[in-house]
Amino acid sequence: MIPEGFREFIAKSLGEEEAGRLIEALGGEPPVSVRVNPSKIAADALREHFGKLAAEPVEWSPEAFYLNERPSFTLDPLFHAGGYYVQEASSMYVGKILRGIICETSGPFRLLDLCAAPGGKSTDAASALRDGDLLVANEVIGSRASVLAANMARWGFPGTIVTNSDPVEFGKLKGFFDILIVDAPCSGEGMFRKDSEAAQEWSEDNVALCAARQKRILADAWPCLRAGGHIIYSTCTFNRFEDEENAGWIASGLGGELLEQRHFLPGRDKGEGFYCALLRKEGDEPHTAIPRAAVKPLSSPAAEFVAGGCLLMQKGDIIKALPEALAGAAAYLESRLHVIRSGVAVAQVKGRDLIPEADLALSTLLRRGAFPEAALDRDTALRFLAREPFALPGMPKGFILVTYKGLPLGFVKNLGNRCNNLLPASRRIRMDIKNADKL
Ligand code: SAM
Repeated sequence: MIPEGFREFIAKSLGEEEAGRLIEALGGEPPVSVRVNPSKIAADALREHFGKLAAEPVEWSPEAFYLNERPSFTLDPLFHAGGYYVQEASSMYVGKILRGIICETSGPFRLLDLCAAPGGKSTDAASALRDGDLLVANEVIGSRASVLAANMARWGFPGTIVTNSDPVEFGKLKGFFDILIVDAPCSGEGMFRKDSEAAQEWSEDNVALCAARQKRILADAWPCLRAGGHIIYSTCTFNRFEDEENAGWIASGLGGELLEQRHFLPGRDKGEGFYCALLRKEGDEPHTAIPRAAVKPLSSPAAEFVAGGCLLMQKGDIIKALPEALAGAAAYLESRLHVIRSGVAVAQVKGRDLIPEADLALSTLLRRGAFPEAALDRDTALRFLAREPFALPGMPKGFILVTYKGLPLGFVKNLGNRCNNLLPASRRIRMDIKNADKL
């Protein structure tokens, strides 16, 4: 449903012809696209996984491709293993810009994705970053921050910290970040065909409110970007007030140079409506140095579970691991922000036992070979994900890493005739798995 007054309004930003094409396209079906997680699976193997459904690559994101129709991703164990992310194609342009910055400037990088839930841009950023880089994925709304944390755990990049803080709190970290992504809350014009609520809530007044809120968010967080650092500002709207005018305001009001901007329009581009701008902050300074953290590394048999180059530490009964290079930054941020996930939970200490944590299975820090592995077929993998009973005949008793198509899914404790499932109840799939169509 196209809101009243929208056509006339948008024609003022896009012109009559473009607006007409757009309105027509908004009546159609949105394309479906997935982006591979290159640290877990090759793009060709993912295409093979989707078989006949796999269609052409997304032009601006070579590791992503369209699907001919939308399967039930919830019933695909490879999705739960973090093999891919279901992301709207236009918004993958942020990843393209980011890769350009990373190529042209030198790291290590500290990147903040300020409005990050559910995690489309953050998972893409994690794939663009390298060992030693830091990704802070923030979401101000608590319930959405938990979804973000689960999606980032699934993606498995160990240099991720997930926070649940207001942009104002970031503004206090002067010059800390090299790259800032602000994928701002907006009037959602680009989502009308996917999200009928966005269409119902649209009005010119709401556009003005959104544009003002975006300015506030940008101004609040701005000091945390170092001089000479880059900001990627994006919205899923078409109107110039939230898009070009706000990008112009970053340049003139906050102090930056506009390097690139692009609109994606249904009817012209194969994706939803999206706007994206790249700016460089005036000046040139390195990111703020932080004192080395006095982190007392833990000596534990859990060291056997993780790859080298990370520090182990214990919080309560949980042993977690963090890339050594990021320990100082993590401690600094933990004392200033509401951090909800930092490093990888490796194991729970229970008396003299170490119970492997679900997130360890999903992290690239997991040392393959540390646990016996059971390769599950799709039906058993779905039973695992639904926390329904199953057995692993022939496997040794004790902790087993369960995998699907070679990717770790989680842990069970094999008791012989049945398994104790170590998947957290909060991650259990709640769909009927009995008549799941094959992919
Ligand atoms: N970047 C996300 C992704 O790619 O998956 C989508 C982000 S969505 C467009 C905008 C996010 O901004 C929402 O998660 C919303 O909760 C958050 N948000 C809402 N109000 C905000 C505020 N005042 N400050 C910062 N973020 C806000």
